[in-house]
Amino acid sequence: MKNRLKTSFILTFIFCTFLSCNTEKLAIKSDFVIGTICTIKIPKSKKADKILNLCFEELKRLESILSANSNISELAKVNNKASTKPIKLSDELFELISLSKKISEQTDGAFNPAIGRIVKLWNIGFENERVPKKDEIEKFLPFTKTENLLLNSQKEIFLQNGNVQIDLGAIAKGYACDKIYSLLKDQGVKSAVIDFGGNIFVLGKKFFTKQNWNVGVRNPNGKVNDVLITLELADTSVVTSGIYERFFFEGGIRYHHILDPKTGYPAQNDLASVSVICKNSTYADALATAFSVLGYKKSLEVLKRFSEQKIQVVFIFKDGNVKLSKK
Ligand code: FAD
Ligand code: MG
Repeated sequence: MKNRLKTSFILTFIFCTFLSCNTEKLAIKSDFVIGTICTIKIPKSKKADKILNLCFEELKRLESILSANSNISELAKVNNKASTKPIKLSDELFELISLSKKISEQTDGAFNPAIGRIVKLWNIGFENERVPKKDEIEKFLPFTKTENLLLNSQKEIFLQNGNVQIDLGAIAKGYACDKIYSLLKDQGVKSAVIDFGGNIFVLGKKFFTKQNWNVGVRNPNGKVNDVLITLELADTSVVTSGIYERFFFEGGIRYHHILDPKTGYPAQNDLASVSVICKNSTYADALATAFSVLGYKKSLEVLKRFSEQKIQVVFIFKDGNVKLSKK
């Protein structure tokens, strides 16, 4: 893949532990898709390999719709053409852009699917990453208003201006997790781990037991096996966003990939990483990014707006402190 993520920057913040679990009894498949290494683990059975292949075919199909990093995805077509005439969307793209607009409103714009032009200016994680000039950011920031994304009841989209660009990188992995979760359930799978580099979904209870899964949240400032907190979970998703995940240095300054849509620059606040626990991985993904932009205090306010989603959040601060939101 031409624009493949520089592996030195990959640091997955969460992982499942399989204490007392015999991995010989598992069917496991990994591949590089949707911009990360995706791994799915299910119990071995006659159908297991077929089910895993189905999952990865589905992931590739979703990538061909949702990727902002490909020239031939459905999203690329929208970004290139939908400012000249309305374009009919697939059900998935319509659903995800509609939901992204809604979450953007609910987070006071901290999560912003129309931030694509600014993301491309920085290109963080790609070979030509750079600090854009101030006047470039000022020029393109006005085109990141989500009001520029016009959707209609025929599932068409129109972009108000040629400079408006959609990027679903902060929500699409979560959406893909939800789709694979449903596919596995439809195939009769009772227990699974879906791990899309920072986005985890544990389906059911721990393999071959009636116990909860142990999901470790890593210390964003520490080494790979430095677990700050272990969560006991069942049938839910955990998504982490962090400022130490994708970044580059210029002039001795670290620039990370979570951008504040108000300024066009990497978000600056008290947080190092945010893990959102929610049965809906799409929401978890979008909100992990939004809270990383908002900082701790504002995130708690915004969190109240999502009572329906029954969300819990693990905030890890730059100084190493950890705080859990109330259930
Ligand atoms: P998150 O916090 O979930 O998202 C951060 C990403 O969202 C940023 O990288 C940016 O793209 C965007 N963003 C930044 N700030 C905001 C904001 N305030 N609101 C909304 N969005 C924001 N990477 C590659 O290197 N090569 C690829 O070919 C590639 N293909 C991909 C295809 C798909 C379908 C997807 C979903 C991702 C792909 N990626 C690829 C990775 C992608 O570019 C993002 O970097 C990645 O999704 C970031 O996820 P995260 O969990 O690290 O961070
Ligand atoms: Mg996200």
